[in-house]
Amino acid sequence: TTVPGIGQFRADFPILDIKVDDKPLIYLDNAASSQMPQAVIDCLVRYQKTQHANIHRAVHYLSNLATQEYEAARCKLQNFIGAREDREVIFTSGTTDSINLVMHGYGRKFIQRGDEIILSELEHHSNIVPWQMLAEERGAHIRVAPINDAGELLVEEYEKLFNSKTRFVALSHVSNALGSINPIKRMIAIAHQHDVPVLIDGAQAAPHLKIDVQDLDCDFYAFSAHKMCGPTGIGILYGKAHLLESMQPFKGGGDMIASVSFEKTTYNEIPYKFEAGTPPIAAAIGFGAAIDYLEQIGLDAIADYEHELLLYASEQIRMIPGVKIIGDCPDKVAVISFVIDGIHPHDVGTLLNQEGIAVRTGHHCAQPIMQRFNVAATSRASFSFYNTKKEIDALVAGIRSVQKVFAQ
Ligand code: PMP
Repeated sequence: TTVPGIGQFRADFPILDIKVDDKPLIYLDNAASSQMPQAVIDCLVRYQKTQHANIHRAVHYLSNLATQEYEAARCKLQNFIGAREDREVIFTSGTTDSINLVMHGYGRKFIQRGDEIILSELEHHSNIVPWQMLAEERGAHIRVAPINDAGELLVEEYEKLFNSKTRFVALSHVSNALGSINPIKRMIAIAHQHDVPVLIDGAQAAPHLKIDVQDLDCDFYAFSAHKMCGPTGIGILYGKAHLLESMQPFKGGGDMIASVSFEKTTYNEIPYKFEAGTPPIAAAIGFGAAIDYLEQIGLDAIADYEHELLLYASEQIRMIPGVKIIGDCPDKVAVISFVIDGIHPHDVGTLLNQEGIAVRTGHHCAQPIMQRFNVAATSRASFSFYNTKKEIDALVAGIRSVQKVFAQ
């Protein structure tokens, strides 16, 4: 590695030492889920062994301890994204849950017949389907900002979609299928000129880029722990306090209430208003440990090193005849989506797996983007700071040997 010091962190991930049919695992499916370092595993074990109890509802020792740890994790997330207050961070089960919370809490309260919601062509299904459900229920309309052939959002076209009926914008920060980084700061500013709030799906950005929600001035920002060294089943929704306060709760139940009678229920304050029932306490605390871990390396060092991996891999893959990178634009995180002439991505994935190489093949829950590029599916290699150039060499050799198998 040429970015100083970053190579040492690979040893923190026990799973990277496993073998796949006697071959070393080469894990290049980080955009789906990343792996967990020992520090996070230790935190989860420590929690279960010494801190576990239900939170917020008891005076006893363990409950207080679990509550403190859970709320400390919220503060870690607050600092990680530069939120003004900890109550602006809501624990959810992940990005999908966060987006659905905003759809129900904000969308169903404020979006009416004839209103318009702007999305982009690059969205993951989880930032399309909830808005379609809402549009169908309300008689609202979805408008879609297009991209160019390099996978870049066309900001001028996006700007033209605004009119007096526009009520909401939902955009991905980084495309999961292609890796393109969208110019969201500019896009948020454009929406705000029209007094329209913006939700950013940060599932693919938060693991790789330094996020500052106040600088971006986004109204909502959502991401999942399992893509950033944390456990599954937990994520956050950031929302500006005044917007969260104006919203209706998504789920009803314990902990989200101030008082309940059969005549009337009043709701708790944010963030608790949106955290009904027993939350995934262990997972939230594990998420906090993952944040500590990432911050110890530094998001800027992660971004620099991963960019180096991206350049190295792109250069080599571009040189293989018959292989095309989909969305080969300069402003990307370390994701390479590619197709090989005459070979179905599923076969590519299966043959690479025989070499111990894990890539994802399919539509990546982004069918509109596949349609845009006129492909049914792609193979996607997505890198993390624990990957190496040697692993990229193995991927490139693997692609060449897949081509040989099919040339026979
Ligand atoms: N949005 C994007 C851009 C994603 O990549 C993903 C995960 N593939 C999601 C949303 C959904 O995240 P989750 O499955 O953790 O809810």
